[in-house]
Amino acid sequence: MLTITNLSKYYGTHCALRQVSFSVEPGTVLTILGPNGAGKTTLFKILAGLSHDYQGSVCFGPDKKLQAHDIGFVFDSSRAFYPKLTAFENLRYFGVVKGLSRQVAKDTALQLLQTFSLSDKAEQQVQLLSRGMQQRLALCLSLISNPKVLLLDEPTLGLDIESQKEFELCIEQVKETGTIVLIATHQMDTAQRLGNYSLLLNKGEAVRFGNTQTLLANTCGEQYTITTQ
Ligand code: ATP
Repeated sequence: MLTITNLSKYYGTHCALRQVSFSVEPGTVLTILGPNGAGKTTLFKILAGLSHDYQGSVCFGPDKKLQAHDIGFVFDSSRAFYPKLTAFENLRYFGVVKGLSRQVAKDTALQLLQTFSLSDKAEQQVQLLSRGMQQRLALCLSLISNPKVLLLDEPTLGLDIESQKEFELCIEQVKETGTIVLIATHQMDTAQRLGNYSLLLNKGEAVRFGNTQTLLANTCGEQYTITTQ
């Protein structure tokens, strides 16, 4: 279980996160909702190990700190790859960078491409892939070292409806493997379709946490209503 306890983060005197606590079971999708400036990215940066100066704790399992290899993330797929390398070459390269042997990196890359319906694009340069395919490839990349927690920041933003649906199916598959998936989004419809649980942040505070359907029903019309894009 991923357990966040009393997480706070200050930028100078500005409080970006205040005493946020929640826990998530394996195989759960948690959507992190909230308007601009709510603290979603700040939370992700801490979980991803990109921000160290914070108060509170992040634990995975009893008393275990979350290690870098436990975390996969998809932040901005357009800058995640070497555009002139193929989809397969990118995955194999990053697999090796993450410490896999060449053979394991190759096998894992091929398996991920197959799982997410990209096998026929394996030999294509990434720059020639559609945005939706690049986003699915970014998901493959984030899973190459078999992380326990996956962080997705606005993963379907800017995708056409068909690509959104394909991506959401991929997330369902990831969830089935027991991975914890955290999705930061402004898109309530994405939360509605994917989130088992949701955390609503506003001005750095956890305003609500709970079952997504209940939370969205109770939040309807409140001042921190999240926009649908
Ligand atoms: P958005 O949806 O617009 O990305 P968010 O929910 O991700 O917003 P954060 O980016 O986490 O919100 O920002 C939370 C608060 O912290 C905001 O008030 C923001 O201005 C502030 N903040 C974020 N990063 C920094 C920084 N590096 N220095 C100073 N203040 C920051």
